[in-house]
This record gives sequence, structure tokens and C-alpha cells, in this order.
Amino acid sequence: MQEECGVAGISFKENSNNAAASLYCALFALQHRGQESAGISIYDGTTTRTKKGMGLVPQAFRKNDINELSSAVGIGHVRYSTTGDSSIENAQPLVINYKDGILSLAHNGNLVNSQELRSGLEAEQRIFHSDSDTEVIAQLFIKELSKKDIISSIKEMVRMLVGSYAILMLIGDRVIAFRDPLGIKPLCIGKLEGGYIIASESCAIDVVGGTCIRDVKPGELVILKNGAMEARQLYNSKHSAHCIFEHIYFARADSILDSKLTYQSRIRVGETLYDEHPVNADIAFPVPDSGTTFAIGYAHRSGIQYLEGLIKNRYSGRTFIMPGQNMREAAVRLKLNTIKQNIKGKSVVIVDDSIVRGTTSRRIVDMVRAAGAREVHVRIGSPPIIAPCYLGINMPTRHELIASDKTIRTIEALINADSLRYISLEGLIKSIGIPAEDFCTGCFTGVYPVEIPGEQCTRAQLKITEF
Ligand code: AMP
Repeated sequence: MQEECGVAGISFKENSNNAAASLYCALFALQHRGQESAGISIYDGTTTRTKKGMGLVPQAFRKNDINELSSAVGIGHVRYSTTGDSSIENAQPLVINYKDGILSLAHNGNLVNSQELRSGLEAEQRIFHSDSDTEVIAQLFIKELSKKDIISSIKEMVRMLVGSYAILMLIGDRVIAFRDPLGIKPLCIGKLEGGYIIASESCAIDVVGGTCIRDVKPGELVILKNGAMEARQLYNSKHSAHCIFEHIYFARADSILDSKLTYQSRIRVGETLYDEHPVNADIAFPVPDSGTTFAIGYAHRSGIQYLEGLIKNRYSGRTFIMPGQNMREAAVRLKLNTIKQNIKGKSVVIVDDSIVRGTTSRRIVDMVRAAGAREVHVRIGSPPIIAPCYLGINMPTRHELIASDKTIRTIEALINADSLRYISLEGLIKSIGIPAEDFCTGCFTGVYPVEIPGEQCTRAQLKITEF
């Protein structure tokens, strides 16, 4: 099961009762990271209580839910899985009663060795209620916790987990946050009046009036209690492996990821894209919303007029969610329409963030031609996606990825563009401004920062040492 998700945890001083309301807002800001289900767990001074529901944040919670969850501390989660396994059992936070209390856990990421770990735990008679890797993490943690304290248990668990994980746990009145030693998935810390917040993206901190103070470091453990924060570096790695796709597509443009404002990175990518692949055209426009910032950068650098040619229906969800290729193709038309007056008789550059299956690009080029464009050039703000993601971004299998076995020229013909060009990997990395060794670029290179059966691995990132 592949998941993309958003997590948030908040701790105020004991006398506050605002955690659930603030978490609701934080999850709302992280909605782009998961639209399938949402949940909040709080500790009310006596016990842990949880509300979960299907759908978007406002649908997942009933009117009174947030009032009923009045408390000073809690965690929340939004889930996005496109595998079709859309049920309340998989909604998070995952809650487990164990010998000494209740563990509530929210996870963003994907384990590569989940099956292996699960088999080991099942052999010890541990019973699973879902097929999610989050439950494997929770069971492993509880097993260790029966022998050790919280910090030692996490330390032990990290030794066994292979994959990406930004985790928030609620144990009694404590929020415990942990980011995997390669920092694959984002996680950052914000200061609030009378407390702290930890969230997948800084936009969730802004929305509750907080100030983003820093990222949780790869391999770092952060504990929030009674509105105060304590941090411990548990593991060190020479290099990180931040997911580059977060910077390109997944994160919101107003979020700061690993000290880089996503908006700024995307503007620079658009500029570099023009430097690498200039074209003579009358207008440049994005595939909204994912291509918008890139197109602004491209137009700015080139001097080509930025004039919108495509308008997105605000109420359409992600086309990726639609099952089956036929549905996806219809969904593109539901989602986007052309402004014919802006396009007719012109040579246009369409800028987007990425091409995955190629469905969107082909439909869009057809639509723009039907609107009377003289020439259609396509520019993409990421290199060709040639390999799947095993570490938390929902990507199709290799054979569904249009660039996995086709040249750019072939794709150009398939999408019916006059020209198709992608930014180079070097150009992309330079534009974001994080060293190449500190990124996971598996989807562009087929080389991953952790060992994945049947795939290639970069050894440099494997060396993780205890702090
Ligand atoms: P397609 O080439 O038709 O498969 O769709 C590519 C478009 O989907 C890109 O332009 C992105 O904006 C968007 N996209 C890329 N990756 C993802 C993802 N993991 N989940 C949802 N949408 C995505």
C-alpha cells in the first residue's frame, strides 16, 4: 500500500483547550497531502480520545467533534492513498491499547521492509487489524516499549525500519515526533503562543498563527509536553535524502521545506528551464495549479507574455484519484478548460511540473490545439520520471510511466507537441539549492537511497550512525 499523508501535532500549556481546533486548521492547510480521510487524537488529562472520518477535513469531522475534543495536546493526520483501499479502518491516527496505556500514531511515508517486519511480529503472535505499514511501526514500538523507555524504544525501532517515515505519536500528555535518519519526508517545528506545533509543512504552522522555527532534523526526536519542547538527535547520516518531488509537486508553494521556500525553488526551476530550453513563442501559460509557479519563472526569464490559456475548475479533485485510464481522461476535461481568445492563432508554451503517465499532457495539447494554437511547445519542470517511488509518493508502476521506456522524442510525438523539453536533473537541483547528495532522486534515476529489492541503491546515503 502506497500512501502520501500529512501529519500535525500540537502541545499547549496544560490550561489550554485549543489543541483540537488548532489541529483542525493545521490539517485543513495540509489537505493537499491527503483527501481520503482525516483524524485527530487528543489527551484530555485522563485518557486519549480520537475522531476519524472519511473525506476532506470538513467532511471527516461533525460539527461538535472538535468541541468534544477540547484539550491542550493532540495529533492529527490526513491520508491520501490511491490504491482504492479507501476505508475507515485505514484512517489515522492509528490507536492501539497496550499494557501501560494508549498509543496514537500518525505516519507519513512508506516502509520498504514492512512485510518482512510484519511476518516477524506475526510469528510472535502479534495480531494485525490492517495491512498498513503504520500498524507495523506501532506494533514494533509497543514491543520495544515493554522492555525499554520511549527513547530507547524508538532508537531500537529505527534500526529495523527501512523506508521513509515522519511520525507523530501521542502517548498520554506527550507528543513524540520522529523523522527518519535520511529526512526523506518533511517535518518542521513551529512556535505558538503558549506551545509548539510540529507539522509536515510550514503552511500548517502559518495557518494557526505560529512561526516556523526549523525543520526536525533527519534522525532527530522531538518531544512536546505541557507547551514545552525538548529535542534529541538519535541518529546521524552523512547525507540526507530529501524527497525532491516534494519540492517540485507535492508541497504547497507557500511551504518552507528543508529551509527552502518551495515557491522560490519553483520560480528558479522555471527560469532554468528557459535557460536550458528556450523557444520563440507568443505566450506562456501553466497547467494550473501544479505548473503555475514554474510558468511565472519561465515567462519572467524569457520575456514571453504570461497569459492564461487554461482555467481549472476549483471544485475538481486530483485526476490521479480517478480509477482507470478512461475515467482519468474524462477527468482532465472536467478539470481544465481553454480560454480560446487567448490562444487562437498563437504559438504557445505550456509549462507543467511533471509528466507521469502522459494522460494529462496529451489531453491538454489536444485541447490547446482545438482552441486554435498555431504551435504548442511543452516545457516540464522536472526530468523524465523513469522509475517508481517506493518511499511515499504515489506513482504508478514502471510500465505505466510514459518515460520509463520511451525517448523524449517519442513522448513528444505521443502527446502531439511541436516540441517537448524537460529540465535537466542538474538544473533542477541547482535551482532548488540543496546539494545533490542530500536528495532522493529515485524517480528520475532509478537509484534509491535505501536498499529496495531488485533496485539500485546509492551507498553514500546508507551510512547511518548513532549520535
Ligand atoms: P499524468 O502525466 O497524466 O499521469 O499526470 C501528470 C500530472 O499529475 C502532473 O502534471 C502533476 O501535476 C500531477 N502529479 C504528479 N505526480 C502526482 C502524484 N503522485 N499524485 C497526484 N498527482 C500527481
